[in-house]
Amino acid sequence: SKVEDMSAEVVDSNPYSRLMALQRMGIVENYERIRDFSVAIVGIGGVGSVAAEMLTRCGIGRLLLYDYDKVELANMNRLFFRPDQVGLTKTDAAVQTLSDINPDVVLESYTLNITTVTGFETFMSSLTKKSFCPNKEGSGVDLVLSCVDNYEARMAVNQACNELSQTWMESGVSEDAVSGHIQLLIPGETACFACAPPLVVASGVDERTLKREGVCAASLPTTMGVVAGLLVQNTLKLLLGFGQVSPYLVRDGDVFFILLPELLQMGYNSLKDFFPTMQMKPNPQCSNVACLKRQEEYMLAKPARDAAAKAK
Ligand code: ATP
Ligand code: ZN
Repeated sequence: SKVEDMSAEVVDSNPYSRLMALQRMGIVENYERIRDFSVAIVGIGGVGSVAAEMLTRCGIGRLLLYDYDKVELANMNRLFFRPDQVGLTKTDAAVQTLSDINPDVVLESYTLNITTVTGFETFMSSLTKKSFCPNKEGSGVDLVLSCVDNYEARMAVNQACNELSQTWMESGVSEDAVSGHIQLLIPGETACFACAPPLVVASGVDERTLKREGVCAASLPTTMGVVAGLLVQNTLKLLLGFGQVSPYLVRDGDVFFILLPELLQMGYNSLKDFFPTMQMKPNPQCSNVACLKRQEEYMLAKPARDAAAKAK
């Protein structure tokens, strides 16, 4: 009837009512908690910009955006940026669009290269500095998402997160544009980026052997959109504590328990519609000193953790 249609319209006029429905349907306990969280996104390119938009539309509390690059016309085969933004830094252009979409999100723009000495310092201090989130005053960020496209930048994120004991997620799309991966990394508990040889993407080809001088990388907005979707879906599950990010991860308040020192890495092969998964333990011979320190702490806390997990 007409009356019913009108009431449906009233509900729909609140952009969050449909997300809040996750609560009424019993998927999450409290969707509104999304506003308490801060997420840092490193690399605002094909994957990072889309991940930032998804989190903005989900009502995340605060987003910290890092990239040194400017928007170019050549980026238009990807999602998010528009031709009128050419010339702006990617982080400033992103803040422009995202603040328009959802003015409630606290946005921080860091135009810097995280692999330079000063860039790395600013990156580190921004991850720990006192912050203001709409609902929660605190320090630091809840999660770092790595959406960069090169080995050195991933190693810099790995170094910062190992030093800060910061949980992060890595993502990537292969140079041939048809496969990608996401991976959750918890210092000391899972393999860090230096523990294992550089991530082999789902195509089975090492990124470094593919990256040749003078050869232009392919790019598809579809694969990048899928990888951004997988990354943010797992971010929501991790922050709001629903579903499973790995078979063994459980959330208790602000504490994550991992019942086995293994974590899931998930690939995406678009040619075969195949999502290979694998688990990665930390490497006791890892070359990263901070990683070894975190591994030692994790092992020392093992008895207490096992007892807590048993008591559940
Ligand atoms: P292409 O290299 O194919 O032209 P791109 O550089 O936009 O594309 P994407 O995969 O779309 O690559 O996005 C990766 C993003 O990560 C880029 O915006 C890039 O500027 C950013 N990035 C890479 N390395 C760093 C770094 N060391 N510090 C900050 N941002 C970085
Ligand atoms: Zn390691």
